[in-house]
Amino acid sequence: MKTNPFRSAQFVLSAAEVRQLPADSGAEIAFAGRSNAGKSSALNAICDQSGLARTSKTPGRTQLLNVFVLDEGRRLIDLPGYGYAKVPEAVRERWRAAIDAYLRQRDSLRAVVLIMDSRHPLKEFDLQMLAYCRDIGLGCHVLLTKADKLSRGEAAGTLALVRKEIAALGSNASVQLFSVPAKTGLDEARATLIGLLSQP
Ligand code: GDP
Repeated sequence: MKTNPFRSAQFVLSAAEVRQLPADSGAEIAFAGRSNAGKSSALNAICDQSGLARTSKTPGRTQLLNVFVLDEGRRLIDLPGYGYAKVPEAVRERWRAAIDAYLRQRDSLRAVVLIMDSRHPLKEFDLQMLAYCRDIGLGCHVLLTKADKLSRGEAAGTLALVRKEIAALGSNASVQLFSVPAKTGLDEARATLIGLLSQP
């Protein structure tokens, strides 16, 4: 790729609620995934900035929507990761409500990038997110991360299986393999995101 617009990504703010986000104009893409799926690593790799999404792991920011601006009209939103057993149910319920409100209300939201560990795809959270996007007509692009941990054959098999299961859910989410160390799917992910961000 000649120029990578994600390289200019800059952290701007953390929001606990939708009303604290920047003006709802232009286009943005939200990153979602279970804790440890590889969301921060994927964001960093796509933006070619090793420390970018560290922000989202800073204590006090893990439960917030973290906003990264690419340019005047385009943003990436890092949603809180799910799956920490230690988080009390009441807190989890609050995140769920904030994320739910965000996904439903945000006009500039073009799609969700759903991060799954390719060794453990389609967990409960993933199925919920896929169903949610399907029901509200929101685009979804799945990154099957850590593909370097699978053999070529296993990775191809996982990709085919996940595509099949997503189609069976009635979802039209797109799916690709991704690996940070092997750089698998990096250009494909960037091109897909640019396409989604340029949707009217
Ligand atoms: P997050 O909680 O979803 O933000 O996950 P992280 O990005 O922090 O990644 C969780 C762990 O998986 C870390 O130890 C990463 O180094 C590792 N990881 C993330 N992506 C990859 C990948 O593509 N390949 C491999 N082998 N490890 C990865």
